[in-house]
Amino acid sequence: MSQKISIPVAIRLDDPACPPSLGSVTREVWSKPERNLKAMKAALLTMGLAIVCVFIPIAHFILVPGFLFLTVLVFIGGMNVQSAIIGGGGSCPKCQAAFEVAKSADRWPLKDVCSHCQVSLKIFLTDEAQPS
Ligand SMILES: [Zn+2]
Repeated sequence: MSQKISIPVAIRLDDPACPPSLGSVTREVWSKPERNLKAMKAALLTMGLAIVCVFIPIAHFILVPGFLFLTVLVFIGGMNVQSAIIGGGGSCPKCQAAFEVAKSADRWPLKDVCSHCQVSLKIFLTDEAQPS
């Protein structure tokens, strides 16, 4: 069973003079059997594409080995993904409007764009949000 954890975050601009605003993101963490199942589903999809490409003349010389190689990469990559950011929200430090945090990999600091003023934002865990 996957776990969904809400994490408080600080949202900052690249401009250090602008004070950060607060928000939260939701992190989903998968157990090892769930990761294996997700990786298997993705690998079966690319394997299916490889099988379909067998019937495409000439292009199958490149597509079939390409999709089989991609199957291995997708399976190994999928098994190593332990968690991801599945959403969240906060207020923009520049325009103060509420915005949604997009789905992304669990790599900090997160990067996002305010949907109202299009300014790029960096999202830090609150412990790391202190000015250095
Ligand atoms: Zn904004």
